[in-house]
Amino acid sequence: MNAMDQLDRIAITVKAHRLLRQLLKENPRLEEILRNSKNEIEARIGIRNWVLDELRQRPQALAYYEGRSSGREAFEALSWSDYAAIRLLDYVDQAGREFPDLNLRGEIAVSNPVRQLWLAVIHGTGGAKPDFFDDVLQLMRQFGGRSTVRTPTREEVESWMERYPSGLDPRIVALREENRERILHLIIDRIDRGELQSQRFAFEPGMSRSAKSDRALEWWADPAFHLRMAIRSPQLLNEMLGNSLDPDTMRVLQRAQDAGIPFFVNPYYLSLLHVRVPYFAIGADLAIRHYVVYSQQLVEEFGHIRAWEKEDLVRPGIPNAAGWMLPPYDNVHRRYPDVAILIPDTTGRACGGLCSSCQRMFDFQRGSLNFDLQALEPRATWPQKLGELMRYFEEDSQLRDILITGGDALMSSDAALARILDAVYGMAAAKRAGNEARERKYAEIQRVRLGTRLPVYLPQRITSQMADILARFRERASEVGIRQFVIQTHFESPMEVTPEAREAVQRLLGAGWIVTNQLVFSAGASRRGHTAKLRAVLNEVGVLPYYTFVLKGYRENSFNYAPIARVVQEELEEKKIGRLPERYYDEVRQLPERATSMLRQVSTLRGRACVPFLATDRSVLNLPAVGKSLTFRVIGITRYGRRILEFDHDRTRAHSPIIDRMGKVVVIESKSIGEYLRQLAEMGEDPAEYEGLYGYSMGQTEPRLPLFEYPPYDFEVTDELTNFELPPEDEDPRADEPETVGSAMR
Ligand code: SF4
Repeated sequence: MNAMDQLDRIAITVKAHRLLRQLLKENPRLEEILRNSKNEIEARIGIRNWVLDELRQRPQALAYYEGRSSGREAFEALSWSDYAAIRLLDYVDQAGREFPDLNLRGEIAVSNPVRQLWLAVIHGTGGAKPDFFDDVLQLMRQFGGRSTVRTPTREEVESWMERYPSGLDPRIVALREENRERILHLIIDRIDRGELQSQRFAFEPGMSRSAKSDRALEWWADPAFHLRMAIRSPQLLNEMLGNSLDPDTMRVLQRAQDAGIPFFVNPYYLSLLHVRVPYFAIGADLAIRHYVVYSQQLVEEFGHIRAWEKEDLVRPGIPNAAGWMLPPYDNVHRRYPDVAILIPDTTGRACGGLCSSCQRMFDFQRGSLNFDLQALEPRATWPQKLGELMRYFEEDSQLRDILITGGDALMSSDAALARILDAVYGMAAAKRAGNEARERKYAEIQRVRLGTRLPVYLPQRITSQMADILARFRERASEVGIRQFVIQTHFESPMEVTPEAREAVQRLLGAGWIVTNQLVFSAGASRRGHTAKLRAVLNEVGVLPYYTFVLKGYRENSFNYAPIARVVQEELEEKKIGRLPERYYDEVRQLPERATSMLRQVSTLRGRACVPFLATDRSVLNLPAVGKSLTFRVIGITRYGRRILEFDHDRTRAHSPIIDRMGKVVVIESKSIGEYLRQLAEMGEDPAEYEGLYGYSMGQTEPRLPLFEYPPYDFEVTDELTNFELPPEDEDPRADEPETVGSAMR
């Protein structure tokens, strides 16, 4: 007997039986089809004919299902029950398809929901779980018009937003001061006991306790203090949190340390976590807390984590998964023709902290990113290597956008940062000069971005010296055609927007760089109103939302994962109230040109457009292939109720030609909707407020706002592609990846 046959014989549970009975009671036609079918094939044919009959009465929806119409307009014209009809047909069409499920380390998942239903009705078997039946029950209600969707009013959304104080709220500021005092006291004790030794952060003999407190308070403004005093063990983390972590959490954290997951929580960021929680702050720090406290799933998977983005794997002499030939180091990542990521060999390979659901956990696992700050100091060979990397950009026909990141771009020292920016300036100038002699022109550099979470993790690092370096670069680089200077940051919660963060943002804006935010839509951040509030607070300090990302990763990130249905719901319900009408697009386009007056510009724009925040962000998933998209349909579901989604690429941007060969991309979610709703309830949410969530089974990538477009050139760029080679058809970019890359670190 094969594994599938074995699963088919598994009896369903009592709870699953109850849900099935309810399903059949509400849907007599479905029951009739299932009971009268001799096998699952007949059941599929019966369901298909039934749904198609319904859909034929709605030609627009039929055309969408058949792929004869597509795009945002066609998507928005679909009715609520159309979503359900299309999903049912997709379930039937895709029945029996097998997918390697990387949430289960590559085990094969088969989607055949009609077979599960038929087996359950006829034999009481099939092994499907209650979350599967719950999902089908909701689907049939949607199809039969018994559940409808209601978009919340602006007042409702605003009342949800009010649940979340920001880090600028004076009551929260006072709480953080209390936290800071507690942490500093513990640090002073540790220094006194000789457990912390540092030449720079030491007390003179005979200093009184109050003099030490004053000195420690001065150190608080020094970024080096926070890096030096960062917490690197679970025991210390608990101690600094007033021993408030429960024993279960501590057991998980201890296992995390044993598994080799780095701990790095600096005192400033730790002070954002509450130990004493007054009524106005209940649950407010949850999204932050979940970024610091590792989940059991992460601990279990660490050592087996697979790189989500295939094109991040670089092998000398072989094109990456997107077809780009890259320099023979791990410093350049590239998906698109016009943009490449630069990861310098500096302390920028570390971060100000480790986010538990970090998109680069694979790199922390294999050690290419880490918190060994001394070892990350640039080697003598770095300047020469940097020159080689810059030549790659200079000699590429399409690159016009360089994203310097890590780790964290601003973790580099001032000198290292200045060196990198000098090199970028030289490269941009040389690229421009090279074009003079060229008949078929190459793209010139127009945009420079620095990817950093330091305005959040360690705003003290954004010093006036750093701002001077950035301002000087902007001035010089503007002369060689660079027009967009962007700090790309990652605020996750309104509670991270503190007075210190606001000051850091002000410095960056003052240097003429705009600050944009990429939010990761984690479970904690996905609570009603949380992200909308974050957008509003970011606007208040001059930050523009850029992307809302579906949380990437497999089972290691399942705890923090919010299903894509919730991402679409947020986009269509809450974010909707911040959309700017097209008549404001010209003004939006101007924003980056005048970064220094960003606060005033944003506030004027919000007032004139009468919106509570500027929803300038697109909600997307970074595909585990090439590019970003939210154009998808749910085409299947596992026995556990985890959905299987098929994505198309975002056709509105320049891509590597490889996407034409790749076809669609399948993603299996790591969490069912039922599991997610139970988690929300655990977080104190009322699941009734998420009504309709099950129904969001399709999406269409939102249009990009002009704010994030490249300025036009006054010449035509060649369509020749350099540094590009189509990899052989059967090439598996993961083939060389060791199975348990992290095991050496344990
Ligand atoms: S700041 Fe970015 S790279 Fe660093 S740990 Fe967080 S998500 Fe990962």
